[in-house]
Amino acid sequence: MLDKLTQLPEDSILGLAAACRVDPNPHKVDLTVGIYMSEAGICPVFDAVRLAQQALIEEETTKAYMPPAGDATFNTGMQRLVMGGDSPALAAGRVSSIQTPGGCGAIRIGAEVIHAAAPDARVWVSDPTWPVHIPLLGSVGLSFETYRYYDPAEHGVNFEGMVADLQQARRGDVVLLHGCCHNPCGADLSLEQWGTIADMAERQGFLPFVDIAYQGLGDGLETDAAGVRLLAERLPELIIAASCSKNMGLYRERTGAAIFVCASADNARALVSQAQVAARRIYSMPPAHGALLAGRILSDEALTANWEDELQAMCRRINGLRTSLMSKLQQHSDRDFSFIEREKGMFSFLGLTPAQALALREQHSVYMLDSSRINVAGVNGANIDYLAEAVGKVLRG
Ligand code: PMP
Repeated sequence: MLDKLTQLPEDSILGLAAACRVDPNPHKVDLTVGIYMSEAGICPVFDAVRLAQQALIEEETTKAYMPPAGDATFNTGMQRLVMGGDSPALAAGRVSSIQTPGGCGAIRIGAEVIHAAAPDARVWVSDPTWPVHIPLLGSVGLSFETYRYYDPAEHGVNFEGMVADLQQARRGDVVLLHGCCHNPCGADLSLEQWGTIADMAERQGFLPFVDIAYQGLGDGLETDAAGVRLLAERLPELIIAASCSKNMGLYRERTGAAIFVCASADNARALVSQAQVAARRIYSMPPAHGALLAGRILSDEALTANWEDELQAMCRRINGLRTSLMSKLQQHSDRDFSFIEREKGMFSFLGLTPAQALALREQHSVYMLDSSRINVAGVNGANIDYLAEAVGKVLRG
């Protein structure tokens, strides 16, 4: 039976990262997977995580299953982190959540809950969106519509196109939005534009589903959550998928939260039961380690301050890299790269053709996606000149 199955192609992003790992060129540059890399080229463990981990090892008395909704301290901490401590919806008890295996788990649980409520729901996704959104939502049986989002010619959001397309979203539809630091384009909505989306959701009755995987890495924890908080203040219902992979560096610990803002406290409780049953069908209980660390950090003042400081430093460094990369690229070519400085978070499209991205890989061992999406956090003082020079050479042909 199993011998009918054939080898599948590697995941496009992970496959490129693997190719870079075995490239013997000492100057190789890996700008593929979205992980934060320090100036030393490593993905660091946060100091607050290390401290929380030491305490946990001392104190942990059991490895028994987590409850299906996960760790209560983590759940409360994540609700406050995303919604803000003064959220009216939180105060009214209209918010509930479950701990999930990463942001991916949260997206999948969100999709399961949507499917239970409205099996025929269409999910509107941005063009482009993170490719993994499609299998995560589609495997549940939801169908897709696409709305215009990134304008490659202008290197920014095509908001007119977005609004025109979303005018066709109706009650019973879901609109997937990137909370901040859009993956793959780095172009985010302004607060005013979030307001327009809220107006449309109110008028047309669609349900926003906000994927926020990079809170703290765009402008800061509060600013990055301003859009999702605006929706939560204006709308009766909202689903949020949050992740601690990037902003706490807990990637491999699979730590995330599916958060439900509901029309009533009763409904918020009902959503937890729906989410738990969905989780039981897929993986039963979430993994413990990452959420116990994150819960500890979010509930301890000193650890929170330590974590926030380190996160802010990362955020500043990414924004500094954006400025440096823009000016280095402009030194080596006559193109305008100022959009890199305007965009937010870990990703930007450099605006190269797939053939140019391939030439960078084959001739210079500079690895980026064929779309020319780069992980800005993969740039550092040691590789930035080599990278800018290589891009300049490829642009000159
Ligand atoms: N959403 C987006 C847009 C992402 O880029 C990612 C991570 N690459 C996630 C969600 C989920 O990440 P994780 O499951 O690792 O928390």
